[in-house]
Amino acid sequence: TDSLARAEALITLTPDYPEPGVLFRDISALLVDAEALRTVTEALIAPFAGTFDVVAGIEARGFLLAGTIAATSGVGMLPIRKAGKLPNPAASVEYHLEYGSAVIEAPGVLEPGARVLLVDDVLATGGTLAASRQIVAALGGEVAGAAVVLELEALGGRRTAGDVHALFHAAD
Ligand code: IMP
Repeated sequence: TDSLARAEALITLTPDYPEPGVLFRDISALLVDAEALRTVTEALIAPFAGTFDVVAGIEARGFLLAGTIAATSGVGMLPIRKAGKLPNPAASVEYHLEYGSAVIEAPGVLEPGARVLLVDDVLATGGTLAASRQIVAALGGEVAGAAVVLELEALGGRRTAGDVHALFHAAD
């Protein structure tokens, strides 16, 4: 649709950030635009209507999308955190990065069997989303699905992350 195309055009590209050779995508201008934010959050959840009880956002930009979706969908929100931010994480998963590794954690607040929709801004290698699926399982929830604003296709993240609903696609 026109409003989705308009939202996509608001995603900015910054070369060599956070390190040389990386083309960084930023959704800040999309988030600050009321129409783009509404259009994008509605499109993110469209395939999953009625299938989730909780929306989980991955730190940090995933929080912004998940909070908005929680408010408009009438569901709760689960923050999936970077390591070291929670006093008593109930689940902790380490995953591989291009250089080194990362850890994500979550609080033990899910009802058993809660159906969780995972959301994030960008799918790159897929490691973060794959680890997030493990986090939800470790908390006793079920993954209802995963949705991202932008998929970077050349990184093949879908193979690692499993099925993902991506609104926009970048070839590189
Ligand atoms: P992955 O684990 O390699 O798929 O990386 C995905 C995570 O890194 C997500 O939480 C994204 O927010 C972040 N990320 C990777 N590339 C970008 C980018 O170009 N812009 C914004 N976030 C990114």
